[in-house]
Amino acid sequence: MPGDQRGLCSLERGFVGESMSERYFPDGMPPPLADPTTLPWWEAAADHRLVVQRCADCQATRLPPAPVCAACRSTEFDWTEVPGAGSVYTFTIVHRPIAADQQLPFVIAVVALENSGGLRMISNLVEVDPDDVEIGMALEVVWEDMSEDLAIPRFRPQRA
Ligand SMILES: [Zn+2]
Repeated sequence: MPGDQRGLCSLERGFVGESMSERYFPDGMPPPLADPTTLPWWEAAADHRLVVQRCADCQATRLPPAPVCAACRSTEFDWTEVPGAGSVYTFTIVHRPIAADQQLPFVIAVVALENSGGLRMISNLVEVDPDDVEIGMALEVVWEDMSEDLAIPRFRPQRA
């Protein structure tokens, strides 16, 4: 688990995405670090649940996690699970490595998340030929299990 705090959230189980068949980035990549604001998000991810924050006062959703609502400045919020489906809002194809032994090219995409209150998140597209990626392509989350306590959400083309 990133960070050193546990048990900050209790979320209902819902959609559970599949695990990726192989690691996306090489072992030398540094793992992400959690802080008290982001830890519940990482804990949900470890269970293969994609969650976002929802303001308890104005209901605006936000991602990445932040302590204050950008819409109304409230510090009250809860966590809500989103389906793990989305579409390509925009993307870029990377041809230069950022780590040794990295598979090239790879795709960085802004994913428009369904039923999230209009949120988008940046992730990688996997299990797709970069030349086949298109704006609007339907996606589904797939989880890269980096360790027992750390999973990273990536996205692949939605399967029928
Ligand atoms: Zn708010």
